[in-house]
Amino acid sequence: MTGPEPILSSSSPAFSPLADVRERMAQAARIAQRQIGEITLVAVSKTHEAPAIRPLIAQGQRVFGENRVQEAEAKWPALREECPDIALHLVGQLQSNKAEDAVRLFDVIHSLDRPSLLTALARAMDKTGRRVPLFVQVNIGAEEQKGGCAIADLPALLTQARQADLPVLGLMCVPPAGIEAAPFFALLDKLAADHGLEGRSMGMSEDFEVAIQLGATHIRVGSALFGARG
Ligand SMILES: *Cc1c(COP(=O)(O)O)cnc(C)c1O
Repeated sequence: MTGPEPILSSSSPAFSPLADVRERMAQAARIAQRQIGEITLVAVSKTHEAPAIRPLIAQGQRVFGENRVQEAEAKWPALREECPDIALHLVGQLQSNKAEDAVRLFDVIHSLDRPSLLTALARAMDKTGRRVPLFVQVNIGAEEQKGGCAIADLPALLTQARQADLPVLGLMCVPPAGIEAAPFFALLDKLAADHGLEGRSMGMSEDFEVAIQLGATHIRVGSALFGARG
């Protein structure tokens, strides 16, 4: 009689979700004839506490994403004392009255999507003396209740950002759930190119490989690294 098959799963100590995601990123970059160094993995640690985050830091991950200012303020100052070279990205919607807190805490903000927030961020950057690079979030699927600026409003928002001398890295999107994401990634890539922008923040756990093939410079990956959120 033979024993049971050895089980290799995500609960096995030998399995590293971070190594797995990095390998899949490298594979997607190879297929797309891109350099892996062009693509930043933003590890989205929202809802996860320090004990879940530390192993990724120990494996060399330095770029993390959060979607709420207050949650990030509670978690990251202590972790940054342990590891000073962390870069923190805000990937969630931002209220204008939190703009200054966000500018103090985050190194990149992915969710600029309206003129009033632009004004608040410009004021916060003047006040703090910190210039935080921004992505303009585009409501790429024209969804009713989704954050992001309408495609039709993008030229005016980018003009306003240039006039305010804000550092805009590129465009960001969260495509509609439940349908093929690739056409929306392709559209974001085209919009970024049309406006002469380098950055494309697109692709999450379910679809980061196709996002890389369609030009993503920043992928935002949560559950594939940390497991499902509760
Ligand atoms: C939560 C979140 C992610 C990560 O999503 P996963 O599907 O867990 O990878 C990426 N982008 C934004 C804006 C998010 O809120």
